[in-house]
Amino acid sequence: MTTLNIDPALERNRAFAAAGGHKDAVVFPSLRLFVVTCLDPRVDPAHFLGLGLSDAMVVRNVGGRVTPEVINDVAFISQITESVMPDGPLFEVAVIHHTQCGAGALADDAFRRRYAERISADESTIREHAVVDPIQSVTHDVERLRSSPAISPRVAVSGHVYDVVTGLVQTICRS
Ligand SMILES: [Zn+2]
Repeated sequence: MTTLNIDPALERNRAFAAAGGHKDAVVFPSLRLFVVTCLDPRVDPAHFLGLGLSDAMVVRNVGGRVTPEVINDVAFISQITESVMPDGPLFEVAVIHHTQCGAGALADDAFRRRYAERISADESTIREHAVVDPIQSVTHDVERLRSSPAISPRVAVSGHVYDVVTGLVQTICRS
């Protein structure tokens, strides 16, 4: 059988299961936290936020942007949580953008045009997904999530920037 890139990871999985790493996991995240961040391999919240198994829900995409799909995911979790917690705060969504983000490439006209063609998307929508100034884009995304009618006011929303050079997260806004 051909060797696949996932093989070393599958080996780690067998060790994980053998050590019982999965046994204390719970379905409702123990930190009541929902993280939205970039898929960049340097930006893995299990590492830079020290998240253990079932500590948080995590959605990662290019740039860690609050897209319509991300809003739908938060709305879905809200609806499930509301059914078990009729009152009080539900959970916090932490949107985390980062320095040196590859999503900056979407600000480049030639790159963006080619990409828009490739995925049959509207170029102007894609321009909004660029992360050039992470403080600005995370502030924008927190506002986008906060103002969505699909998101309950019982959900807290915060915005942060992770610096890949210092390893530190800076909080930009909370709402
Ligand atoms: Zn990124």
